[in-house]
Amino acid sequence: MTGIAQNISRIRTALPKDVSLLAVSKFHSAQDILEAYHVGQRLFGESRVQELNTKVALLPKDIEWHFIGHLQTNKVRQIMPYIHTIQSVDSIRLLEEIERQAEKSQRTVCVLLEMHLAQETTKYGFTPTECMDFFDSELPKKLRHIAFSGLMTMASHVTDEQQIAQEFESAYKVFEIIKARHFAHEPAFSIRSWGMSQDYRIAIRHGANMIRIGTDIFGSRIP
Ligand SMILES: *Cc1c(COP(=O)(O)O)cnc(C)c1O
Repeated sequence: MTGIAQNISRIRTALPKDVSLLAVSKFHSAQDILEAYHVGQRLFGESRVQELNTKVALLPKDIEWHFIGHLQTNKVRQIMPYIHTIQSVDSIRLLEEIERQAEKSQRTVCVLLEMHLAQETTKYGFTPTECMDFFDSELPKKLRHIAFSGLMTMASHVTDEQQIAQEFESAYKVFEIIKARHFAHEPAFSIRSWGMSQDYRIAIRHGANMIRIGTDIFGSRIP
């Protein structure tokens, strides 16, 4: 077994059955992705459109591609032919462009709203209130080519595990509120994507059912 294959099996062994593993392959080669593919990995995450386009052309068609980086509205069209889920949806404007392009392609795209909870300031992501207000509004019903699949978030870059745990716990609470209000009796809106190499063990204890792992699978990234 290769290092990549070993890393994946080590992580999988520690995962509860209901938690899925997204292999974050940004900056790593198509060859590395194939090594993961050959041990059954099918969910891959990328954060740059150009890099993803190149890889999609080279790799097997049954890979489920998730976009996890900041996505510019003018690039949505490029990924529409193949993208399964866009996890990093951080504005209404982006949602509207995804709807427009998905309608043109006559398909449905899965989307996670990116929620900002971390202490670092960033221009990306919805606050918890914005997430809840969005689902309380009339807008989701109008976006007919979008399947709202859940929430994605990142914890603060800190060593304080208590703080990380609290942030994930807040994400879980927001998820539960939205789920109960709007998707209570549906399988829709079921993904809680939080936890990366540094904090996925904490994430799993605090509600995650999808973890996004790059470094622990593929090693460090050399941009
Ligand atoms: C890069 C990235 C990851 C993976 O990070 P690692 O620390 O390498 O596991 C997960 N989520 C997002 C949004 C990322 O950009």
